[in-house]
Amino acid sequence: MKASSKVERRSPLRQSTMRKVSLICFSNDLRISDNLALCTAARESESLVCVFVQPPSVLHHNYGMDESVLRRQHLYQTLDDLDLSLTSLGQRLHRVTGGTAEQLRQLVDEFKPCAVYRSEQANAFATDPWNATEAEHPNVQFITLATNTLFSREGLPFKLHELPNTFSKFRREVEDIVVPSPLAAPNKLPPTVGAGDDWRNHFTPTERDSNTTFRGGERAGYDHVNTYFDGVFAQTYKQTRNALDGWTNSTKFSLWLATGALSARQIVHQLRRHEAVYGSNESTYWIYFELLWREYFQWYAHRHKHKIGAFNGISPHSPKTSFYPQRFAKWCHGTTPYPIVNACMRQLNAEGYMSNRGRQLVASCLVHELSVDWRYGAAYMAVKLVDYDVASNWGNWQYLAGVGADPRGHRRFNLQKQTQIYDPDGRFIERWNGADCDPQLDSNDMVDWPQFS
Ligand SMILES: Cc1cc2nc3c(=O)[nH]c(=O)nc-3n(C[C@H](O)[C@H](O)[C@H](O)COP(=O)(O)OP(=O)(O)OC[C@H]3O[C@@H](n4cnc5c(N)ncnc54)[C@H](O)[C@@H]3O)c2cc1C
Repeated sequence: MKASSKVERRSPLRQSTMRKVSLICFSNDLRISDNLALCTAARESESLVCVFVQPPSVLHHNYGMDESVLRRQHLYQTLDDLDLSLTSLGQRLHRVTGGTAEQLRQLVDEFKPCAVYRSEQANAFATDPWNATEAEHPNVQFITLATNTLFSREGLPFKLHELPNTFSKFRREVEDIVVPSPLAAPNKLPPTVGAGDDWRNHFTPTERDSNTTFRGGERAGYDHVNTYFDGVFAQTYKQTRNALDGWTNSTKFSLWLATGALSARQIVHQLRRHEAVYGSNESTYWIYFELLWREYFQWYAHRHKHKIGAFNGISPHSPKTSFYPQRFAKWCHGTTPYPIVNACMRQLNAEGYMSNRGRQLVASCLVHELSVDWRYGAAYMAVKLVDYDVASNWGNWQYLAGVGADPRGHRRFNLQKQTQIYDPDGRFIERWNGADCDPQLDSNDMVDWPQFS
């Protein structure tokens, strides 16, 4: 079975012609290689304005939380690298703006483009303002192209509304589809229009700090994938991937996939090259298997749209959880009665990253031990994770909260057992001081009691 390498949605105004001025709106595709939106805009435009449109970090509202400095720094580095690449092609990053309907309307009204090109996003909350803007500008053609997934919508062996309701069924149906080769970067771009803003002004001096653990950007991502696959780590991935710590125990590709500095197709392409040199085994297959999980959640978010942020997810039943501010605060700060959870949360707060096993444990703890509404946990990760991805984050949270694509209904991890398996000598807990916690979950202070007189 072969997937078509291209999916394209154009508003019905005109088909492809040469356009005077076009906008290319980058979002989760911050790269010049394997970027169909950029290649198409370059081919069809006489001049081009390059803009970064940032979708809201949490779906519909931010639950009172702001994006972490670590993620802002990573984004800054990614945009800086994109700007450098655009400059080498005679272009520049012209503008950084938010993704509300008002901001998009202003953008289109200011530049009066003939066409607006952008990548498809698996986030209905980010797509709504685009749809509104498109409806208000019938003379502008809006062209949306797929750059974020392994397979195109047309290449899937089922219609989107027939997406299998479990990952296993999905995997069996798509596993043998050939992943299209990544596209080369354009070797030149049409010129820009006007001088543009200094997009760096959108970032504070602290956010412009380049001295971070995970460097953002296409070049850094590409170097990381090459280093990873040039070594032997991939050959033992299946045995090491569940470790709570350690740079090479899992691939860390998510750090560049989230911004689109790397595409999933580029990673699969490098994986196949690695297999050709070092051989394929269960571990190399498992890297692909995990990328299929990512793929599944992308299509899941496309399929279920706004339901990815709903309390009962795609389930007819609501969870029996609520919001307990004190418990939630303890979970966020890593001061629950569960040392393993504390260590993971402190790692997240300090580094902006947590292992997959850690994410499963802390999510299970929030929902099943603390009985807190899963959306608060998802929102907290949405502002803290450097690799935050709408579909993977909300899809995994729904799965663990029992309102998503889990055939078993819900996953409750035995935290003591998990500690024995994944931190038998207590080194991870010690490193993050996870045992320094409050053994009591709730506190009732006499002075807080209501007055009955
Ligand atoms: C509660 C929870 C929240 C999560 N939030 C995010 C998120 O915001 N962004 C994100 O990218 N991933 C998220 N994940 C999935 C997974 O934890 C991370 O992708 C993974 O830990 C990233 O590290 P890695 O690149 O070293 O992964 P590896 O183990 O090396 O896996 C390789 C790649 O496969 C994909 N992958 C692996 N596991 C999953 C999974 N369970 N779901 C989807 N894709 C997967 C990722 O793209 C990853 O980079 C979440 C998981 C849970 C349980």
